[in-house]
Amino acid sequence: MPEATSPNGLHHVVVIGGGFGGLETVHRLAGLPCRITIIDRRNHHLFQPLLYQVATASLATSEIAWPIRHLLRLRREVTTLLATVVSIDKSARRVMLDDGSTIAYDTLVVATGARHAYFGHDDWEPFAPGLKMLEDATTIRRRILIAFERAERETDPRWQEALLTFVIIGAGPTGVELAGTIAELAHATLPREFRRIDTRRARVVLIEGGPRVLASFTEDLSAYARKSLESLGVEVELGRVVTKCTSDGVVYGDKTLAAATIIWAAGVQASPAGEWLGAPVDRAGRVKVQPDLTVSGHPEIFVIGDTASVTSPDGSPVPGIAPAAKQQGKFVAATIKARLKGGAGDSVFRYKHAGNLATIGKRLAVIDFGRFQLRGAIAWWIWGIAHIYFLIGVRNRLSVALSWLWIHTLSQRGSRLITQGNANRLQ
Ligand SMILES: Cc1cc2nc3c(=O)[nH]c(=O)nc-3n(C[C@H](O)[C@H](O)[C@H](O)COP(=O)(O)OP(=O)(O)OC[C@H]3O[C@@H](n4cnc5c(N)ncnc54)[C@H](O)[C@@H]3O)c2cc1C
Repeated sequence: MPEATSPNGLHHVVVIGGGFGGLETVHRLAGLPCRITIIDRRNHHLFQPLLYQVATASLATSEIAWPIRHLLRLRREVTTLLATVVSIDKSARRVMLDDGSTIAYDTLVVATGARHAYFGHDDWEPFAPGLKMLEDATTIRRRILIAFERAERETDPRWQEALLTFVIIGAGPTGVELAGTIAELAHATLPREFRRIDTRRARVVLIEGGPRVLASFTEDLSAYARKSLESLGVEVELGRVVTKCTSDGVVYGDKTLAAATIIWAAGVQASPAGEWLGAPVDRAGRVKVQPDLTVSGHPEIFVIGDTASVTSPDGSPVPGIAPAAKQQGKFVAATIKARLKGGAGDSVFRYKHAGNLATIGKRLAVIDFGRFQLRGAIAWWIWGIAHIYFLIGVRNRLSVALSWLWIHTLSQRGSRLITQGNANRLQ
């Protein structure tokens, strides 16, 4: 084990990122003779799988995010720092923060996640925001709600139609969930509240470059998801690549579609940890780590979660999903524990895939457990129970369960507040 940087001789573990991977690492290090510093540029841990529900006015921000400092309040050995990491000095074993200060480590765990990528079209971002942080979700929520408000006042039928057209680019789980929920919002929640427009006329268009929705699921489940979306009123456009996004709408294939609201749900790019570490990365910018999740030549540096590129022993890539990040956090904590006791720990991380879940709309979901698949209401109940179980804290579980009960019995959504900026402006 490398020498200790703490004045009291305790080994110092620095964890960058309080997401699924980083937080799991810190949780699993409980009770060990070490000092831990967790650094995050946000003050909260975010439950990203339900972010689309904030974006579509179903849940409040505080129902899916918790202050990291509060989550770790009982861990006297853990220091939580709100700061942005800008680089890492591997030889000096120091993490550089944006204010110019540095933090020394004995062991470093990098768990800085990923962000959406525009495949070389970063200029599309202002017109087609992606969904990753709470701010992204409230921005999208604001745009969706303002589009309906503006349509109510609009006298030009062409512009009114564009205001009532919602385009989602990318038909992975996030795109499918957004499309289904926006359709429900327009067709079930809002109709009785507007006088000049019929919100049921709203078009929700889901555009996907590949041949099917939910490509990581079986073909049967993909076909079911597509049919379910269409039954909710979503127009599904497959095999179409978007070539232009502007404030007026999108161009895809040979079509131009006027739309005031465009949401980006395609592609991810890892955090720049590869640059900080000068380590080899894959096409998505993820650090190619060793089978034990360390950086080549640096056994004291681990990279995990969405920032890491690693394959299972059978050669299949470990997916960028929350359970994988948590399993990696657990694995790294076990390795650190073994090393603190003078051992070496396991040399190979083995990912255990529990299954893929995606919800499409009210009582519509698909689950792929590998050996068997579920769809429809049963899948939706399992999806709901699993998500409530993985939320943090009894109060949040009750609150989310109550919000869902409200939505699914009365079609009412409680988080429809337009709060940022000028409530008249779309962007
Ligand atoms: C909209 C959406 C829906 C999803 N749905 C699902 C789902 O249904 N099921 C599923 O399993 N997975 C889902 N995922 C994927 C899942 O959320 C990720 O795989 C998981 O969060 C990865 O964990 P992580 O610890 O690697 O990164 P994250 O959880 O993203 O955490 C990274 C942390 O690092 C911090 N950070 C980043 N850069 C810096 C820096 N420079 N300095 C300091 N701190 C920094 C961030 O603030 C963040 O807190 C979804 C993701 C998104 C975006």
